[in-house]
Amino acid sequence: MARIVMKFGGTSMAGTERIRNVASRVKREVDAGNEVAVVVSAMSGETDRLVGYCREASPLADPAEYDVVVAAGEQITSGLLAITLQSLGVKARSWLGWQLPIRTSSAHSVARIEDIETAAILASMAAGEVAVVPGFQGLTAGERVTTLGRGGSDTSAVAMAAALKADRCDIYTDVDGVYTTDPRIVPRARKLHRITYEEMLELASVGAKVLQTRSVELAMKEKVVVQVLSSFSDAPGTLVVDEDDEMEQELIAGIVADKGEAKVTLVGVPDKPGVVAGIFGPLADANINVDMIVQNIAKGEGKTDVTFTVPRAQLPASMDVLEKARDAIGFASLLADDDVAKISVVGVGMKSHAGVAATMFRALASRGINIQAITTSEIKVSVLIPMDYVELAVRVLHTAYGLDGPIAGDVAEDAESDA
Ligand code: ADP
Ligand code: ASP
Ligand code: MG
Repeated sequence: MARIVMKFGGTSMAGTERIRNVASRVKREVDAGNEVAVVVSAMSGETDRLVGYCREASPLADPAEYDVVVAAGEQITSGLLAITLQSLGVKARSWLGWQLPIRTSSAHSVARIEDIETAAILASMAAGEVAVVPGFQGLTAGERVTTLGRGGSDTSAVAMAAALKADRCDIYTDVDGVYTTDPRIVPRARKLHRITYEEMLELASVGAKVLQTRSVELAMKEKVVVQVLSSFSDAPGTLVVDEDDEMEQELIAGIVADKGEAKVTLVGVPDKPGVVAGIFGPLADANINVDMIVQNIAKGEGKTDVTFTVPRAQLPASMDVLEKARDAIGFASLLADDDVAKISVVGVGMKSHAGVAATMFRALASRGINIQAITTSEIKVSVLIPMDYVELAVRVLHTAYGLDGPIAGDVAEDAESDA
């Protein structure tokens, strides 16, 4: 007997028929003698709809009340799954975040899980009941409902697996594993049977949304065995593992396109000490996460340009912050461009190989794709390019690094973005 956490994403939970499919997968694990907790997302499109209501009600909605609204999607699917399991003769009950409780920080809309109370849920599971837990939600010490940031149900599942000391955390989604790149963009993407935590973390943090970044951080820290699988097929998935000597060392694990950033350029900034701090200090104070940064060499009269990227949703706030600091910084003009995308190549093999970045730049140049900014880490190279070239760039790079395989199957047709 094993103790398993199974997590089902938005596409898997979209409608009663799909919930019945989920329930039959859960029943299979129960019939095999396992103890099961299930973490569910809202139906696909539902969280977007709820976010839309909040924005309509007020663009500056109180984050605590925003969380009350957007946490509701998962309440519905957890109840529906419990009902459906019962209809199949499986004992089951739902446990909302506040009922366990799942304690989080008080950073509404981006809360972090701090602790999960497990005594009651473990007793119920030991008595043969499937525990159905809504993902994405928690409770502050002050008893207010929180949510964990978009895609947060992955993190709920891994945290639940760690708290329950589960043998496995199986993440069921609308693709049958982690691929060398998004199989919706490149049909020749190859499924990775194993991937290291480190690579998965980097892929997630540069924008591959198949797992939320925090879920991978937590799995790595708590040594949770994570597997990515399809809700719609029985194909073997991807196992996230510690780096080991036996793993075939591919140079590149994957390529990621992220359309979630926007570019800001400050033109004519005085080239003297303290100016860069004057730009990024106020942005940090406003909780704006700056990603790529380029400072040009000074032209003639001691002026330079500074370019950087911010999350697309924070572009208006960034412009506002910088305009207010215009006199203190002393720039000539401020430009915003949200017609950009970030393309990253990730692989632990890079640590010991030269030429990875050169291959990238050459491949992009061969198609006339202009690079606007570059950042690198030990196992990653990212470039900023015009949005129109995203799909071409991903395909060209996928071929340039020798990653192309046969055309993939098993991608659910009507999958939407996040639930
Ligand atoms: P869920 O609703 O199940 O949480 P998500 O939409 O959050 O699913 O994540 C799954 C999606 O991630 C896939 O449909 C796919 O388009 C996208 N994706 C991006 N990069 C990759 C990758 N390298 N491998 C697999 N899927 C990827
Ligand atoms: N429903 C939430 C979202 O769409 C959480 C999740 O599905 O992981 O972001
Ligand atoms: Mg997701």
